[in-house]
Amino acid sequence: MQAYQLVEWRRPPELREVPVPEPGPGEVVLKVGGSCACHTDLRVMDWPPGTHAYDLPFTLGHETAGWVESVGPGVPAWRPGDAVAVYGAWGCGRCAACREGREMLCERNAVADVPVGGFGRDGGMAEYILVPSARWLVSIEGLDPRDAAPLADAALTPYHAIASTRDLLRPGSWALVIGVGGLGHMAVQLLRATTAARVVAVDVDEARLRLAREVGAEHAVLAGESAAGHVRDLVGGLGATVVIDCVGSDATLALAVAVARPGGAVQVIGLAGGTLPFGYGRVPFGCGVTMPYWGSVGELVEVVELARAGRIRAHTERFPLARVADAYARLRAGTVVGRAVITPHG
Ligand code: NAD
Ligand code: ZN
Ligand code: ZN
Repeated sequence: MQAYQLVEWRRPPELREVPVPEPGPGEVVLKVGGSCACHTDLRVMDWPPGTHAYDLPFTLGHETAGWVESVGPGVPAWRPGDAVAVYGAWGCGRCAACREGREMLCERNAVADVPVGGFGRDGGMAEYILVPSARWLVSIEGLDPRDAAPLADAALTPYHAIASTRDLLRPGSWALVIGVGGLGHMAVQLLRATTAARVVAVDVDEARLRLAREVGAEHAVLAGESAAGHVRDLVGGLGATVVIDCVGSDATLALAVAVARPGGAVQVIGLAGGTLPFGYGRVPFGCGVTMPYWGSVGELVEVVELARAGRIRAHTERFPLARVADAYARLRAGTVVGRAVITPHG
């Protein structure tokens, strides 16, 4: 089969011919319906050698959905043909965090470079993917895996960030989403679908601002020097109650704290590596600044329910596996609107 693999650090990944995986005990092989190009993959491609102790090559892709192709011994719950999303934060299953269902904060993975699908281990940018434990499958019956693949990260990650600040998102509150890309356009929808907050969005690009309005933002503001003042005028009062920064650069972090209200929250999802001067006069009183990471399997189940109910829908552009490099080039150039989904089987 064809798989899009990172073969050498800081070299463009390659489409390579590799064997179709076979499931061992407890494992499941999926026929990939869709696997999405996430901005984090661009970071992986840019990592200097030695950033993580992962062996090469491995197949990219950590946001994947498909159909069960074959199951190994000891997997009674799934049948060939079942439509599933792959939960991507593969924890150890035995530490306290995993036992509480927060596998994305697995204590083993936090202290060692444990490879997971798309990060050091084969992910979904291939015709088939081996999922090493059936507990990472979530049924998406009733949804097309090519439409549902973005739920596994582009939706799950902001869902988790919103869920942890839901108490703040009461009637009369405003949420600001910075960066309306793959994650941000789902964040806008999730805020609308699960909270009473009104939503403002900020982006550098007009096409993304149009998408933000289409999916439920009341206002969409062009990023830049005047953005903070503009957002403050729009939301009025003391500022935005929750800011979800899907960029994480110096500029967006500065915007986030400039518009957040006292007692609010800034959720830094984006991994641009910016820094935020922290201290008196820099961050509003009582305002938390958090770096959420991905979400739990239980939250993915809830995200799938929202999609089934038609409350959220990823805007996708499909690419055949042969054009996967194009999809990433477009993501890097900033010309994907919504999420690029690689569909190896058409
Ligand atoms: P994307 O490229 O699809 O979207 C990024 C968006 O930000 C684009 O619309 C772009 O125009 C906009 N943008 C860029 N600079 C901006 C600025 N200065 N002000 C306002 N908007 C700006 O990326 P994505 O796949 O949605 O990922 C978003 C970020 O989240 C990336 O940094 C990614 O690595 C990170 N991420 C984090 C997690 C996590 O668990 N914390 C999970 C997935 C992705
Ligand atoms: Zn991702
Ligand atoms: Zn664990």
